[in-house]
Amino acid sequence: MKTAELFEQKTVFSLEVFPPKPDADESVIYQTLEQLSDIKPDFISVTYGAGGGKNGCKTIQIASDIQDKYGVESVAHMPCIDLTKAQAKEILDDMQRHGIENILALRGDRTSDTEPTGDFRHASDLITFIKDNYDFNILAACYPEVHPESCSAVDELKWLKYKVDCGADHLITQLFLDNDHFYDFHEKARIAGIDVPIEAGIMPVTNKRQIERMVKLCGVELPKKFVRVLEKYEHNATALRDAGIAYAIDQITDLIADGVDGIHLYTMNNPYIAHRIYDAVQNLISVRV
Ligand code: FAD
Repeated sequence: MKTAELFEQKTVFSLEVFPPKPDADESVIYQTLEQLSDIKPDFISVTYGAGGGKNGCKTIQIASDIQDKYGVESVAHMPCIDLTKAQAKEILDDMQRHGIENILALRGDRTSDTEPTGDFRHASDLITFIKDNYDFNILAACYPEVHPESCSAVDELKWLKYKVDCGADHLITQLFLDNDHFYDFHEKARIAGIDVPIEAGIMPVTNKRQIERMVKLCGVELPKKFVRVLEKYEHNATALRDAGIAYAIDQITDLIADGVDGIHLYTMNNPYIAHRIYDAVQNLISVRV
């Protein structure tokens, strides 16, 4: 099923996982998926090399298994900055052979590991390429606090609108810890004529190193109330985990009450945390009337 169709029925609740490193024990991701599929999420997305790693070679197989073994819709992430058009075609053909219908089309981060080929300078180039040659449902990324490379919020919205005009059917946001950033961005996106569903990306922050890395990579603001929690519990792992879960539940409750299209939970491959959050919010995820 194409993910864009899900929003007609309900508040979407989806999950994100990352593939194991090439030398890691593969059975672990399947145990994780087994437990996550109990949640019956609307879809599970699988990253590809996120954060500059090269752990993407299993993305297609895992996305395909999510559908075939667990009966859950899947989305395969596809960064394009270091792909030639011929390589992109190979990947897209492979996805088609595996029965994948949904792709999160991304540029990918510019890191010391990436060598841009020039064939795809932005996610919009990949979206156009896919639309011209295939029939996939296309998701794209967006940034309530503006992408770190953007000159301004206006510029950011201009290019986001362009991405949607090229064919993005559904957007997922970068994580944010202050819902007001999302509400402000959402309103401006609608004014700019961006009319596709926008899912809010929520990351339960359960350790200090993780959030320091995200702040550095994504430029996410840490609200005072969040910093207080972090400082109070940084030396007590269980308390920090529970506080991170409570914070995420609070964010999601507020977003659903405001009528968000969907929640995309960055699970960090932790089914325990995903279950705790889902259990707390499942009755809030309403059927649309
Ligand atoms: P783009 O849409 O190309 O935007 C990048 C910058 O260029 C922005 O500042 C934008 O305003 C500007 N821009 C966009 N289009 C144009 C244009 N046509 N002309 C000029 N400027 C333009 N990375 C991974 O490597 N693997 C993953 O699996 C992954 N998953 C992600 C999932 C989500 C939900 C999100 C939010 C991000 C994910 N990322 C992943 C990170 C992403 O690759 C980076 O944030 C990357 O730096 C930008 O990707 P993008 O697709 O948003 O790029």
